[in-house]
Amino acid sequence: MNGLGQRVGTDVGAWRADFPLLARTFRDKPLVYLDSAATTQKPQTVIDAVTRFYSWENANVHRGVYKLSEEASARYEAVRPQVARFIGAPGPRGVIFVRGATEGINLVASTWGRANLGPGDEVLITGMEHHANLVPWQQLCKQTGARMVVAPILDDGSLDLDAWLTLLGPRTRMAAMIHVSNALGTVNPVQHMVAAAKAVGAVTLVDGSQAAPHMAVDVTSLGCDFYVFSGHKVYGPTGIGVLWGRESLLESMPPYHLGGDMILSVTFEETIFNEVPHKFEAGTPHVAGVIGLSAALAYLDDCGLARVQAYEHDLLAYGTALLGEIPGLRMVGTAPDKAGVLGFVIDGVHPHDLGTLLDARGIAIRAGHHCAQPVMKRFGVAATARASLGLYNRREDLEALAEGLMAIRGMFA
Ligand code: PMP
Repeated sequence: MNGLGQRVGTDVGAWRADFPLLARTFRDKPLVYLDSAATTQKPQTVIDAVTRFYSWENANVHRGVYKLSEEASARYEAVRPQVARFIGAPGPRGVIFVRGATEGINLVASTWGRANLGPGDEVLITGMEHHANLVPWQQLCKQTGARMVVAPILDDGSLDLDAWLTLLGPRTRMAAMIHVSNALGTVNPVQHMVAAAKAVGAVTLVDGSQAAPHMAVDVTSLGCDFYVFSGHKVYGPTGIGVLWGRESLLESMPPYHLGGDMILSVTFEETIFNEVPHKFEAGTPHVAGVIGLSAALAYLDDCGLARVQAYEHDLLAYGTALLGEIPGLRMVGTAPDKAGVLGFVIDGVHPHDLGTLLDARGIAIRAGHHCAQPVMKRFGVAATARASLGLYNRREDLEALAEGLMAIRGMFA
């Protein structure tokens, strides 16, 4: 917002001005923030919405008979249809507020999974899943006697779709897939994959953590049964996220957490559970998080995800070309369809050293396994360096990165 209370930054390139933290300097250098895949910075509108909530609007929801609580409840519930619109869902009832993508996937694995999987059943995942969409399925399979099947990745970081289609079959009860890889940037053909999974009667879950910030998502045209994303990766607060589920499936699933708010009536002998989505939201929810998420989604709507996608696509191409000029640098993840992520290694320099030395220049990137250890193993590395983009990044950020990498490479030559 400017001093007149008007939104600034509705123009591409002016978006950056909406993010106060990006004005900080580190070690007397302007911050170059290239770690948006880990978490995004927050626009002033989100910060203001959370501050306003705690300053003027705070009350518990769904239980007060007084005006303040009614207002808070109405504000909270109004975000459900907003989220539904944001992801193209048919209605608000399938929108469940969770802590983040991780909790959303755990909810599905624990409730749908335990009720539906047994020996002889299979869960099909891809070889590029974040641990959040791998470990819950792996552990569920161990507990239920089902089998987890993993489709391989090609050398450029694309999914081996032919192999995935071969592994899909009548035993596949769940096909869980990452929409955009956080380690490689690969955009998977999820619409095609979901259609194929449906044809064999499998339920589908799409991990949209790295898609929702970069492209318009439409769960209706994707055709999936479950979709998850985290608020903090779409310019909203931490601790809040969304699990969207097909209502008929949600209704058939047992609850996840038990306690207040998820019940209709309780005696010592019996509990009647509340209806969907409340059945899955036990206890006091993260009301301020939901209000902040609402502001973040409104912000992204203002920017226009089609414009964000086009702008970032251009940045990604620019960054890829710049890094391609650095001798000894190998990109990890060069699929034709990518979003937001530049993963790489440099001969003779450990990615953690790259991260530390770039930090000395005010450049924040991520170095490590990115919660995708099997991806690292697939590419024969222990870790990669990862620069990831948000709508506030500029070409200058990528130029600073390339310049820094050139200088660091010289130190190790
Ligand atoms: N899936 C993917 C693809 C991710 O990038 C992340 C976060 N790095 C997660 C799941 C987990 O998200 P959260 O930690 O917000 O639950």
